[in-house]
This record gives sequence, C-alpha cells and structure tokens, in this order.
Amino acid sequence: MEPIKKNVLLNPGPSTTTDTVKYAQVIPDICPREKEFGSLMKGLREDLVKIVHGDLERYTSVLFCGSGTINIDVAINSLLPEGKKVLVVNNGAYSTRAVEICQYYGLPHIDLQFPVNQRPDLEKVEQTIKDNPDIALVHTTHNETGTGILNPIREIGALAHKYGAVFTVDTTSTYAMRPINIKEDNIDFCMASAQKGLMAFTGLSFIVGNRAIIEKSASYPKRSYYCNLYLQYEFFEKTGEMHFTPPVQTIYATIQALKEYWAEGEEAKWARHTRVFNAINAGLDELGFRQVIKPEWKTGLVSSAIYPDDPNWSFEAVHDYCYERGFTIYPGKISTTNTFRLCALGAIDEADIKDFFVVFKEALEKTGVQTPVIYKGDTK
Ligand SMILES: *Cc1c(COP(=O)(O)O)cnc(C)c1O
Repeated sequence: MEPIKKNVLLNPGPSTTTDTVKYAQVIPDICPREKEFGSLMKGLREDLVKIVHGDLERYTSVLFCGSGTINIDVAINSLLPEGKKVLVVNNGAYSTRAVEICQYYGLPHIDLQFPVNQRPDLEKVEQTIKDNPDIALVHTTHNETGTGILNPIREIGALAHKYGAVFTVDTTSTYAMRPINIKEDNIDFCMASAQKGLMAFTGLSFIVGNRAIIEKSASYPKRSYYCNLYLQYEFFEKTGEMHFTPPVQTIYATIQALKEYWAEGEEAKWARHTRVFNAINAGLDELGFRQVIKPEWKTGLVSSAIYPDDPNWSFEAVHDYCYERGFTIYPGKISTTNTFRLCALGAIDEADIKDFFVVFKEALEKTGVQTPVIYKGDTK
C-alpha cells in the first residue's frame, strides 16, 4: 500500500482520513443490489446506533446519499404532523439552516434566536413551548460548528419531552467524537455524515433515532419524495437496502472507518480530539489570538479566532501559505465578526498541531503580521 500525501485538515469537515480508510474504497466493481453488498448494510446500520449507545430494539439508523444537510432536511420535513409547528432553538449558522429548511417547505415554525456567542436561555425555550401548544418538533444543534459553542441538548430535550414534542438534534459535528448517549441525552433523533467524526468520506449521511416515532410518522404529510424518513426506513425494513443507489465506495470506506473507531475506542478517541483541541488553543493563546466563545462553553472541537487588527493581516495570504505546506485553515461563519476556525476533527494528533503552528507562525512573519497579534483598544 503506497502511503498517500498527508494533508492536515483543520476545517470543520471533511476530516483527515487514514490511508487504510482511503484504500478501502478501492474494491472490485459491485452492483449494490447484490446480496454481498446488502449484508454489509445491516452491520453498518447497527454500528451507527451503537456509537450513541442506542438499544437496537428501540433505535434504528436510516441512511441517505448526500452531504450532512440532507439529514436536517429529512428530519424536519418528515417528522412534523399536519397542522403542527417546529421550534428551532437557534444560536448559530447550522440552526439557521434548519430555519431555512422550514421556510423552503413552508412549515409553520418559530425561529427562537439567541446571540451566536451565548447559550440558549432555557427559561425562554420553556416559555415558548408552553405558549405554543402546537409545537410538535423541537430542533437544535449540538455543537454550532460556526463558532464551536456546545448547546445544552439534554436540558432542551427534557423540555421538549415535558410538553410532548419530539426532539431532533444536529449532532453532525459531535457524533463519534464527543460521546453521546441518545437516551440519557433526551434525543429522539440525531444525525451525522461519514466525513466528520467517523473520518470517512462525503456521500453517506444518516439519522439515528426512535423507531416508534418513525413508524408513527407514516401518516404525516409527505413533503418530499427523495428526502422522506419513513419511506427510506420502510424500504430498509423490507429489503435491507437503500431505496435508490447508495454511495458504494463511501460505504466500504465507512465500514473500515468503523473498525478503526471501535479499535481506538470512544474514550481514547475523545481524549485524542481533546489533546488536539488543547494544542490548538495553546498555539492561538501563545500568538495572542482572541476567541469568540468562552472556554467553559466550548464543545472542545472548534476554535473560532478573531481577526487581529493588524493592517498586514490577510486570511487569504496566511491560508495560502499554510495550504501549500499541507495545512488547511478555514474561514469563520459569523456575520458580525471576522473570524477563522481551527478544528480538532480527523485522524490527527498533537504533533500535527505543533507542526502546523511552526508553519502558521512563519506565515504571520512572512506576511508582516506582528506577534503577539494586536487588537484595537489594547493598552500595549
Ligand atoms: C458539517 C455540518 C453539517 C453538514 O454540512 P454539509 O456541508 O451538508 O456536509 C450540518 N450540521 C453541522 C452542525 C455541521 O457541522
């Protein structure tokens, strides 16, 4: 097996993969309607439930061919009964995406907004659910990948359940990284795609959730043909296969990635991501960068650094210098503040971050940015 050039991706997914996962895609051509392929699917679907400690009787996983956003689309459009309303607890770009999905489908919804650097106010969440007894679906994002803030999903889920609503959570940027327990975290449905925490490739996305609620949704309005949770679930139950052509090679890679996930172990993997995250923050601190989210509110996977007020600072120039040397940094996703992000996803470790900061520091020097970096209003 030829080693493949290693790029350290510090963007919020797709993540750096191992060579064994890359090579798992290189297989003899196969028609996915063959029994041999179908039998792979069962184990894969069960593993995806086990990652969030779900009981296989009560929870199932439903796979889709698409990037992570397909899950948000499917969950929201499929799980809302006729005449009911969606509540989106929104403090960032990914919950805003859920709001846009409601708008595109014309679904009654409440966009309960909080500042992007603040956790949602649980009293307001409860009051809103209380005041609107037609809310049947509460949705939020676990780790708002745009900033790296961790939302209190267990508490929001408890409120949803207290008033009889279903709770869907976008866990795309925590699943298979920061440990999740679907039942204890009060989640009815969570979701992710293979290119993030699992460290495989784009093209395979999945919703893990409560089987009884999916079965109940059989009678809900069908708002999409391709993106309907019940229709895809029912096809899996009948045939063990995806309704339409699955992403064959990505599935082989994901099966290899799952083997590597179990071999590394949930705790050891989270400890590794934490090492990487701590190394990122130490590097940013040393250079004087300020961040958007308070340390105690961070998920531990995304650092969102504020652009320094240095006339020579150019994200593009720094990005290009690092990119040419195998390190990818990423712009922020906050409309009010200019930020860039460094993320702790993927098959990387502390040593990769040390190597990165050597290059990053060089990039700042070469472009004439003063270090430690300066911000307006500093007394230095
Ligand atoms: C990455 C991500 C998604 C999916 O984005 P795609 O570009 O569609 O893969 C959804 N939600 C969150 C929180 C994410 O981090």
